[in-house]
Amino acid sequence: MVGPDSPSPVSPPATPIRIFDTTLRDGEQSPGASLNLKEKLEIARVLEQLGVDIIEAGFPITSQGDFDSVSAIASELTASTVAGLARCTEKDVRRAGEAVKHAKFGRVHVFCATSKIHREFKLKKAKEEIIRMTRDNVQLARSYVSDVEFSPEDASRTELDYLAEVVHAAIEAGATTINCPDTVGFTTPAEYRAMFEYLIKHVPGADKVIFSTHCHNDLGLAVANSLAGVQGGARQVECTINGIGERAGNASLEEIVMAIKTRHDVYPFSTRINSKKLVPASRLVSSLTGLHVQRNKAIVGENAFAHESGIHQDGMLKHKSTYEIMTPSDVGWAQSVNVLGKHSGRHAYKTRLEELGYRLTEEELAIAFERFKTLCDKKKEIYDEDIEAIIEDQLESAEQLFRLKNLQVVAGTNGIPTATVTLLDSTGEPVTDAATGDGPIDAMFAVIQRITHISAKLVNYEVRSVTEGKDAQGEATVELLHSERKIRGRGVSTDILEASAKAYLAAINRIRTLQKKTVSQATPM
Ligand SMILES: [Zn+2]
Repeated sequence: MVGPDSPSPVSPPATPIRIFDTTLRDGEQSPGASLNLKEKLEIARVLEQLGVDIIEAGFPITSQGDFDSVSAIASELTASTVAGLARCTEKDVRRAGEAVKHAKFGRVHVFCATSKIHREFKLKKAKEEIIRMTRDNVQLARSYVSDVEFSPEDASRTELDYLAEVVHAAIEAGATTINCPDTVGFTTPAEYRAMFEYLIKHVPGADKVIFSTHCHNDLGLAVANSLAGVQGGARQVECTINGIGERAGNASLEEIVMAIKTRHDVYPFSTRINSKKLVPASRLVSSLTGLHVQRNKAIVGENAFAHESGIHQDGMLKHKSTYEIMTPSDVGWAQSVNVLGKHSGRHAYKTRLEELGYRLTEEELAIAFERFKTLCDKKKEIYDEDIEAIIEDQLESAEQLFRLKNLQVVAGTNGIPTATVTLLDSTGEPVTDAATGDGPIDAMFAVIQRITHISAKLVNYEVRSVTEGKDAQGEATVELLHSERKIRGRGVSTDILEASAKAYLAAINRIRTLQKKTVSQATPM
């Protein structure tokens, strides 16, 4: 093992690897993880600061909301390339092309299923037909942008000779990146590496394009497969923050980056990622999607650097590299510090927000600062987590249709729990109602359903504290089931009943927004 303190005599030359982050597209397909425009924009900003080369911002044809998010992100970012996904059809490609046309660096990402099983059962198309579609749509995409990525979906289960034919057609039509996804998480490292070696050796023009990996984690091999793909010649890795994504998720960005950085002796590659921003990015994505990171998750899990065992602790005290191959600060773990308080001014607050990676408009800053001051009155010590919680709560409620105006709950051992709630609807009109329930939370949720006329089944409800201490802010997360979709919502307050009501309302508002979605996202890639 090579630790941080080990001398590295001669560093091999580093070949650059492009990091393509699809947290906002493939990651957002995690059940319940749907994000609103403000949240997507905030994540995109953080990804750009992190050093991500290409950000896949969405799938523009699926809804007006997705189109608007891709378009907004494309218009704002100046360092990262912004990509929009499209199926292999004219309508999809045109929509994606329109969405990224204002980008400084825009990319259209076209995909088409190529494996036998997908050809026969999903597309019901012959081999020649798929090649023709690939050619036409890659060409069409090139009429919008010069940067076009093509993905033969389910590449790892496609017959190699046929895969080579499709890839060749895409290159001839003008694709500049060829991504070969392991769509169902089925491949193994040796197999995946061999696939790239075969394509690079046999496809004419392969030396003029960048090959890319895209791995799913169904067998827990996504990161290992991605790295094997890189060893086989791929120079772009598609991944997500915290490895979120459909089913078992995608390859995790932080694991890929740190494996390359820590084992440079084996992987003589480099990325543009600033690893010290990994943990803040992980926390942001986790809060906004409501998908908590498991404690023992590599790099960004709460226990990733905790040494409980006595033997390890002893070794650590004598010399850090005995058991530590990276340091917590390498990846952005910092001690929570009490940096702000009652007497902090607007300038200090703004500076801290910028240090944490947030960029707010003057108007948003004014609201956030107001809430910060209110919190200072309720809570003695303010931590970074508190500041983040306020901002994320504000982002969550950006697309509010209903807002919580007033809440009164009566509960006790002998009475019937009753909740009285006043909501403001989208026009600002107050609506008040009351309901009883099995408990105070149940009563509160029942009355919100009654006012909003949206009924949904509560499938999960959690409350946790954002920081330590009895005056800590509580974060409530709810998961609702509505029309066979899981929808999450979160709310933050020093009062957990209020946090719960806000979380429930956030989920209801999201259901209302989602009802406008037009095309279902049918498991692409
Ligand atoms: Zn995928």
